[in-house]
Amino acid sequence: MSHEPLRAVIARHGLSASKALGQNFILDRQLLSRIAAIPGDLAGQTVYEVGPGPGGLTHALLDAGANVIAVERDRRCLPALAELKVEFPERLRMIEGDALDIDERAEVGAGSFGAAHIVANLPYNVGTALLLRWLAGPWPPWWTTLTLMFQREVAERIVAGVGTEHYGRLAIAAQWRASPRIALLVHRSSFTPPPKVASAVVHIVPVPAPEGVDHALLERLTAASFGQRRKMLRQSLKGVPGALDALATLGIDSSRRAEMLSVAEFVELARTLGTG
Ligand code: SAM
Repeated sequence: MSHEPLRAVIARHGLSASKALGQNFILDRQLLSRIAAIPGDLAGQTVYEVGPGPGGLTHALLDAGANVIAVERDRRCLPALAELKVEFPERLRMIEGDALDIDERAEVGAGSFGAAHIVANLPYNVGTALLLRWLAGPWPPWWTTLTLMFQREVAERIVAGVGTEHYGRLAIAAQWRASPRIALLVHRSSFTPPPKVASAVVHIVPVPAPEGVDHALLERLTAASFGQRRKMLRQSLKGVPGALDALATLGIDSSRRAEMLSVAEFVELARTLGTG
């Protein structure tokens, strides 16, 4: 098993980091192994990875026994990844393209729950969009777990509890039918080049969805509520037909603010609105 220093792989292939592509590479193989261990035992499991870059995390996932399907937008990285493919011909499949454009579910051959783990040191400019996409859709989802690197502030927003500074739409989207936690804090200096801010790996496991709740309706409620987060609900939810009646039905005081309404209360509100 070749473990050439990643710095040498990058130099050999002339992979100067592109800011536009959110390229902050992790070169420390020990750290990469720790990230690859977060989803649990990957032997024989399928992993979908976004943005393998020079292939450090990909290598760690392959070393952990996973079958990896990886999508990379920067064609400059493909020769380095082709070398990895020589080493793991049966267990690595590369797709050149934009992760936002491809139908990853079809690529993974996902018919039902549990088809693949998603593991990625995401490009920050598309991380939230991809997360929201994976959190939407039928439930249980096609993926088993998500293990994703974010800017630390985004990670805090994903796991935030009610009444805290970072609580908002992202927390509700991530928590109403999944359980997220911060699995690892990663210092800026762990990346080449170092980004401006700290990072964190978030691990997300799906849980059973509450029954009778329409995802789009919940989204609409949280968008309206947190669009004016300092306002009372009776003000911020004015534009959502039936929402004020639903608050009254549930006995939720309409002078409360969105940031003080728990995930469970938002779920109840969406359910009541959906049946009203
Ligand atoms: N996985 C590598 C690591 O951990 O060192 C690289 C991570 S780097 C933060 C993000 C990677 O995502 C880069 O290789 C970049 O080229 C790639 N990328 C950026 N935008 C992308 C997109 N829309 N679709 C697929 N890959 C993308």
